[in-house]
Amino acid sequence: MKGRFGIYGGQYVSEILMHALIELEEAFEKIYPSQEFQGEFQELLRNYAGRPTPLYYARNFSTLVGFKVYLKREDMVCGGSHKLNNALGQALLAKKMGKKRLITETAAGQHGLATVMAGNICELKTEIFMGVKDIQRQAANVKKMKLLGAKIKPVKIGAGVLKDAVSETLREWAACSRTTHYLMGSTVGPHPFPIIVATFQGVIGREIREQILEKEGRLPDAIVACGSGGSNALGAFKAFIEEENVRLYFVEGGGESLESENSAAAFQLGRPGVLHGSLMQVMQDPYGQIKPSKTRSAGLNYPGRGPEISYLCEIGRIKACYSFDNEVFDAVKVMARTEGLIPALETAHAIAYVLNHREEFSPGDIVVINYSGRGDKDMETILRYFYEA
Ligand SMILES: *Cc1c(COP(=O)(O)O)cnc(C)c1O
Repeated sequence: MKGRFGIYGGQYVSEILMHALIELEEAFEKIYPSQEFQGEFQELLRNYAGRPTPLYYARNFSTLVGFKVYLKREDMVCGGSHKLNNALGQALLAKKMGKKRLITETAAGQHGLATVMAGNICELKTEIFMGVKDIQRQAANVKKMKLLGAKIKPVKIGAGVLKDAVSETLREWAACSRTTHYLMGSTVGPHPFPIIVATFQGVIGREIREQILEKEGRLPDAIVACGSGGSNALGAFKAFIEEENVRLYFVEGGGESLESENSAAAFQLGRPGVLHGSLMQVMQDPYGQIKPSKTRSAGLNYPGRGPEISYLCEIGRIKACYSFDNEVFDAVKVMARTEGLIPALETAHAIAYVLNHREEFSPGDIVVINYSGRGDKDMETILRYFYEA
């Protein structure tokens, strides 16, 4: 069945959204492979986003852990994370489909920013749904989005957080999909969104493959990526799924501990269920009500895992792992002191996993960490952790 990964995925949406999903699927299949689209997309990735991003040999960090570690520098993409790869692809697709407007939702503001950047380039109006609580918490990014010309739509329903903003955006899309594209930010949502987002992020892994062959003459032994929906991880993994000797590690937000309500580790604490139009691994109570996730890292604070990541973890192709908040903050410091780089808190989950599970790697191993973003946006949280305790 289309858009299924094992039992996961599908299109659990109301009848009125089906037309928009079918139109999007057909447009993607036709437009994405075309020479015209590829030409413009590659040009934007190169000259606006700054691709290819470097694959950096982290010599000092490698000495510390005892095996070779490379960082795939997605923090150097314009905007500071991998998110723009997908936003540019979908905005260009929407323009070719004749749409006039982009809508999306955002929690921390990173995806909202990437969307309005891409919208401006493609001459599309951008409206961003955001929970009222998140608008308060993310004042700096809200100001940036407004400066770039985005219209911010406060969402008051429910708890006024991300999951409510997603529901509201889906409702809005159902009402105006003729003129409007919903620019989904991760490998989640109903088919065809997970496939579209994974395709646009796949550039990460294709570059890793080429760069590591050039530098080392062989494929890596392991790739480690953080994630919630799974877009940066799948982007890095996809070119290696068929390579059985490349181990793949997916690191989610452990939060404070696995025992309490203080976690976002959906692979440890969840089970299959429907969230935002798709069957996936999701945190829920015994009655199937979605449980809120909790972690200090905004980008990992989502109770669901996208369908493809859910499936690949279930069959054992990817190892599902987690890092706790305190390990994550320590990892930020280690990276800062060894390599002079301040990672995003999300990214630091992958770094912490490597630091704390050295026994899973051998001295001859080559390990690639997908360095998904930079930590500027998290400076306040990081400083509060170290200096206010
Ligand atoms: C948004 C974000 C993530 C998590 O999203 P995925 O879709 O799971 O990749 C990870 N790292 C950074 C830096 C982010 O901004």
